[in-house]
This record gives sequence, structure tokens and C-alpha cells, in this order.
Amino acid sequence: MERLLSDITHILARERELFGEDVLSEPRASMSPSRTSATPPERHTEPPPAEDLVLFSVPAARPPIVAEPWADADSVASLNDLICTCVKCPLGQTRTKFVFGVGNPKATLMIVGEAPGADEDAQGEPFVGRAGQLLNKILEAIGFRRDAVYICNILKCRPPNNRKPQLEEVERCLPYLRKQIQLVQPALILCLGLTAAENLLGTTESLGRLRGRTLSYEGTPVMVTYHPAALLRNPNWKRPTWEDVQAARALHDELVRKRGANG
Ligand code: URA
Repeated sequence: MERLLSDITHILARERELFGEDVLSEPRASMSPSRTSATPPERHTEPPPAEDLVLFSVPAARPPIVAEPWADADSVASLNDLICTCVKCPLGQTRTKFVFGVGNPKATLMIVGEAPGADEDAQGEPFVGRAGQLLNKILEAIGFRRDAVYICNILKCRPPNNRKPQLEEVERCLPYLRKQIQLVQPALILCLGLTAAENLLGTTESLGRLRGRTLSYEGTPVMVTYHPAALLRNPNWKRPTWEDVQAARALHDELVRKRGANG
């Protein structure tokens, strides 16, 4: 029963992510063909507040960084060494490779996805499959080389059949991501998709409401856009994603400039 509920919740969340908030509450009769052909969902229309930083902070269910050896790691490389044999959740038994994260350990932009898929599980690197190729193009379009940013996921191990991360898995794995963020100290975090955003920020807001805003993870600015896998399924979302990532680039540059000015 619990499994069934979890599957239904996942399907509903995916629907929301794919088609926007309204699709689940709209009467079926009102779903014209053009609606179902997936016009980009309405963006949250409130204008962004005047200040550009840490406009609001959502309460997150954050497990503490516990006193385990990895908690004292002083580099991402040593953190990886300390956690790469993790079996705290059942995914540790089913993974092929632990997918820690990749990129510049001093990156000013951190990309956070959901969880490794089959290609990532096989290669031990995040975003190397089709979604990863698209992510590379998106990054390139806003002037970032893949190796200049830091790329990681909410989960370090692949969930079977690419199902949505379960609560227990997130609870066990999120402290590792939190530690990665602490070590990399990015100026900006870009969450790809609702799963990344809701687990990092501890929010239950829809993707439509999270996009276009500057959120905060413990003081680090966060922006949210569509997951590249969603763009592969629905190219209509490429335009809004383009807007999101351009805004992310502009905010990133401003944050980096301010960092520089503050020494
Ligand atoms: N999707 C993700 O969220 N992460 C990956 O690493 C690959 C696909």
C-alpha cells in the first residue's frame, strides 16, 4: 500500500513537473489539444522583489551533518574517498558505481540534479547520458565549460528503473551533498527539476512557482529550472529554460563580482 501511494505521488509529481500545476486540477474537458501539446506552463507572474539576493528562505528538513569521519573532510576528493563505499541505504547494494560529483572543486556555479541514471551508474559520473549532453549544450550556451562548474545530484546512487528518490534515500544521502556544498562554496546553485529543488530547499512549492526566483540554501543563492530530461520529452520548455539559465548567468556574474569586491 505504501509503495502504491509512493508510486502515485511520484506520477502526480512528474505530471506536475511536466505539464505545470494546473493540469491535475483542470476538468478533463477543458484540455484542448493545444493544452495537451504542452504549451510551457505559466510562469509565476509576481515580479521579483527589488533586492536580488536571498529573497526568501524556505524551511528545509535538513538532517544535521553528523559526526562521522567524512564530516571532517577538507576537500571534495577526500570526501569522495570517505563515502564512496556507502551502503547506508539499499541503493548501495544495487548501484554499479557511486556517482559522487564532477567538476571544478572551487566552482562558482554548482548544478544539482536528481539522481544518476543508467549511463551515470555505469560510468560513475553525473549527467553523461542524453540529459547530460543537453546540459553540456545549455551550459555552453551561457558561456560555461562543463569542467568549470561542479555537477552533482541529490542521490549518489541510481534508484532502480530511475524511480524518484525515496525519503529514506534522501535522508541518508543529503548530508553528503550538504558537505559538498560546504566545501565547494559556490556563489550560485542551479537546481535542475523539482526533485532537486524540493529536496535541497525542503519546499513543497511547484516548479512553476520556484522558477524565476532567487531562493536560498543556508545563505547560498539558488535558482531552479527544468530538468534537461524533461526538455528532451518536451522541447517547448527549452525557451523558458533558456530564460532561466540566462537569468542564472546574470545573477552568477553579479554574485561573483560582489565576492571579488568583498575580497
Ligand atoms: N539525471 C540526473 O538528475 N542526474 C544525472 O546525473 C543524470 C540524469
